[in-house]
Amino acid sequence: MNAFEATNSYFHQAADRLEISAAMRTLLITAKRELRVEVPVEMDNGELHTFIGYRVQHDNARGPYKGGLRYHQEVDIDEVRALASLMTWKTAVMDLPFGGAKGGIAVNPRQLSRRELERLTRVFVDQIHDVIGPDKDIPAPDMGTDAEVMAWMMSQYSKYHGFSPGVVTSKPVEYYGMPGREEATGRGVGVLTMKMTGRAGRKPSLTRVAVQGFGNVGTHTAKLLSEAEFRVVAIGDASGGFHRADGIDIGAAIRYVNAHDHSLAGFTEADPITNEQLLELDVDILIPAALGAVIHAGNAAKIRARTIIEAANAPVLPEADRILEAQGVTVLPDILANAGGVSASYFEWVQNRQHYRWSLDRVRQELDALMLRAFDQVWDTAREHHVSLRVAAFMIGIRRVHRATQLSGIG
Ligand code: GLU
Repeated sequence: MNAFEATNSYFHQAADRLEISAAMRTLLITAKRELRVEVPVEMDNGELHTFIGYRVQHDNARGPYKGGLRYHQEVDIDEVRALASLMTWKTAVMDLPFGGAKGGIAVNPRQLSRRELERLTRVFVDQIHDVIGPDKDIPAPDMGTDAEVMAWMMSQYSKYHGFSPGVVTSKPVEYYGMPGREEATGRGVGVLTMKMTGRAGRKPSLTRVAVQGFGNVGTHTAKLLSEAEFRVVAIGDASGGFHRADGIDIGAAIRYVNAHDHSLAGFTEADPITNEQLLELDVDILIPAALGAVIHAGNAAKIRARTIIEAANAPVLPEADRILEAQGVTVLPDILANAGGVSASYFEWVQNRQHYRWSLDRVRQELDALMLRAFDQVWDTAREHHVSLRVAAFMIGIRRVHRATQLSGIG
C-alpha cells in the first residue's frame, strides 16, 4: 500500500459511515491538479544540477489550496498526493476557509548550502508562480523548509505579481510573518496532549512521554510538555534516540541541537537508544513528530504507550491503526493533532490581507481556542458514532468538503 492508498483507506472508513456514493468518493479523492516541474540549479561549484519538484492541489471547494512544501530526498508524487489530501481534511476539520495542497522537491537540504537552497527555491517559484497566489494556493513550510525559505518564495513571487505577503505563510517575523507561527504546531500538539491527559484524569507529573523527531514540531512539543510538568523520558531524531527515566532536560537538549547543526548526535545527558526502541518504550504517551509510516504492521503490536498523538503527518499505517485499536490504544489523528501549524498560518494570512498585526498573546489564545473547539467536535462525534478519533475527524472533514462541493453545483 503506498502513501496515497493509505490516506484513502482512512477516507473510505469515514465515507462508509457517511454513506457517500462511489462517484462522489472518486471526485473527493482525486487531486484537482498535479504539477511536476524541473528545477535546474547552478551549484556553488559551478555545476548544473536538476531537481524534480511537485505541487499537488487536492481540493479547493472550501477555499484556496493550502499546505506545506517539503524538501526531502524521498519526496515523490505519491507522497505529495497523500499529504495534499491530508491537508484537505485537516483544514476542513479545523473549519479554516482553505482547501488542501502540498508541494515538495526531491532533495536532501542538508547537502546544499544556504545559497544553493535559495537558488533552488527561487527557480521552483519561477516554475509554479502561475498556479499559486494569496487567493489560489498558499504554501508554507514542512519538513526540510523553514521561515527563510518562505521569505525567498514571497520575494520571488512578488517579482512577478507585485507585493504579495499573503502568498506564503510562516514567514520570518521580520518579513511579514507572525510571532507564534513557528511554535504553533508543537503548541497545538501540547495543548491537545494536556486536554487528553486531563480527560483521562492523569497528572502530568506522572505521565511519561516519548517524542520521536526533534525538529520544529518535536522541540516545541517537548518544551511545552516539560514546562507543563510532563515527564519527557525520551527524545530522538535521525541520529537516534535518547532515554532518561527521570525525564530529560528539554532546555538542555534544545541548546544542544542549536549548537550542533540541528542534530542530537553526541547528546550525553540521556542514554542512547535506537529509534525502534524509542517507539516501543514503556511510556504513557508516544508522539511521533518526524517522518510518516514509522508505526506499521511490523511494530504496532509492540507499542506500549496507551495514547499516540500524531504530530507528524501519516506516522501510523492503516494496518497498524487496526492493531492499535484492537489493543485499546487511543490515537489522536494527524489531521487534528498537528493542525496548529496550518491554523496559525490562517491567522498570519488574515493579518497579511488586512495589513494588521496581532500580539503573541492573541495568537496563542485564538490558536488554543480553535484547537480545543475542533477537539471537542471530534471527541463528541467519536462517542456519538462509536468510531475512533481518526474516523470521527475524517467524518467531520469529509462532510464539510462534500457539502461545499455540492453547494458549488457539483454532485
Ligand atoms: N506543513 C504543515 C502541515 O502539514 C503546515 C501547512 C500550512 O501551514 O499551510 O500542516
